[in-house]
Amino acid sequence: MLPSGLMSPAERGPSVSETQIIHKYVIALGSNQRHPKIGTPVSVMSAALEALNASPLRVLAHSKYVASRPIGPSLRNYVNAAALIETTLEPDKLLRHLKGLEARFGRRNSGQAWRARVLDLDIILWSGGIWAEPKLSVPHRLFRNRTFVLDPVVTIAPDWRDPISGLSIRHLKVRLDRAGRQS
Ligand code: AMP
Repeated sequence: MLPSGLMSPAERGPSVSETQIIHKYVIALGSNQRHPKIGTPVSVMSAALEALNASPLRVLAHSKYVASRPIGPSLRNYVNAAALIETTLEPDKLLRHLKGLEARFGRRNSGQAWRARVLDLDIILWSGGIWAEPKLSVPHRLFRNRTFVLDPVVTIAPDWRDPISGLSIRHLKVRLDRAGRQS
């Protein structure tokens, strides 16, 4: 038998790096600006879900759309939704893909966090657990305190556990609702 270095890739079979893992993610979608061709934020949500359901991603489930008040100086209401997707992309590659989709929808990277945006896509949860890099943290660092994220996410992934707090999405939402009633 030939040493593995002398075998063709077909004879060797898949190496560990070639083995494709299917990752699942929860993605949060938001829009508070019309797209000149697509139309209102509700239409942007539908078009964005279609774009998320194209290779190399697949949408397994998505929430209804919910309207939320803007945070910060922007005056436009947001439309939000959440999607459960699967893909072979690792979190950093997925972020790049999502940034490409946002750019296709006309979002400009102005560096202002709160300005109006046609489409905002955030990675909320990953089946692999925790990803910690300066440019990407998964779970999303603010998702536990955001009603407009937890409200749609609880409808598609209520039993998914946050790997940092150990609490399920259902539990996080009850906790946030309680805190909201007290404040
Ligand atoms: P945003 O304004 O919400 O699009 O976020 C701006 C930047 O946040 C992105 O360009 C990412 O580098 C960074 N970021 C960190 N964690 C995440 C995450 N979980 N999902 C999306 N963006 C993230």
